[in-house]
Amino acid sequence: MQKEEIEKIKEAGKIAGQVVAYAKEMIQPKMPLLEIAEKIESKIEELGGKPAFPVNLSIDEIAAHSTPAWDETRTAQGLLKVDIGVHLEGYIADTAFSLDLDNKEENKKLIEAAEAALAKAVEKIDMEIPLREIGKAIEKTAGVRGFQVIRNLSGHSIGRYDLHFGVNIPNYDNNKEEDIGEGLYAIEPFTTTGLGSVKDGKPSGIYVIQKQGNVRDEFARTVLAYILTEHKTLPFCARWIYKKFGSRGIVALKRIEEAGILHQYPQLVERGAGKVAQAEHTILVTIQEKYVTTALKN
Ligand code: MN
Ligand code: MN
Repeated sequence: MQKEEIEKIKEAGKIAGQVVAYAKEMIQPKMPLLEIAEKIESKIEELGGKPAFPVNLSIDEIAAHSTPAWDETRTAQGLLKVDIGVHLEGYIADTAFSLDLDNKEENKKLIEAAEAALAKAVEKIDMEIPLREIGKAIEKTAGVRGFQVIRNLSGHSIGRYDLHFGVNIPNYDNNKEEDIGEGLYAIEPFTTTGLGSVKDGKPSGIYVIQKQGNVRDEFARTVLAYILTEHKTLPFCARWIYKKFGSRGIVALKRIEEAGILHQYPQLVERGAGKVAQAEHTILVTIQEKYVTTALKN
């Protein structure tokens, strides 16, 4: 990696860390999810970054891929996972935390387990660690606290404008002896009281361009051109399109989706409807250093 790339990666991480600190203070029970998402995404821009994906606000048994709809009416409650992405010219930071808005002991324990598993993984990681060892450490840390990890969600390597790039970082011992090696990685344990896997739920309103293509409708072409310029290969959401283009934008988005150009992510729901907590950091692993980009520094 070039020195300039590393600087941008670190700067994106620093912004993400600051946004997390802001969000932890700002979020209160019963606050509209729409307001929370907009405040977080505005804070990212205020600090000079761009959202690398729509902020995920996933409640209780929804593990991930839930972002407020453009006409969202739900409010914050339960075990809330807040997953935040920041990018600077495509150099990404990906970080998440969980909040217990119900003041329940079980929620707090689940969150503590996810955080402890993340801390353990961060402590163990270096270029020469086999992937399975990271997973094993995560699974064990959750297990001694009486919780399952979600096995079909994993951390991932991160590329430029590419959120999930190549390597998966398992949350359990997957028998992969291959070393993690040099790179930028998101580590993200999910702990649960449920069965330990997720299934697809409702459509999320989060999209990504999946292939090139054309739409007949002229306005839809304008919206597509905007998506390609503004978001490139990064995820975006219907809420953002509504903000830019109004309800015509939502109709256009439908047309673009029907043309097969977009993939819409489903929400990811715990298979046993167990509650889910998540903790996530982005970490840079090079010959020179091991650097948690999204950790808040003084
Ligand atoms: Mn994330
Ligand atoms: Mn991630």
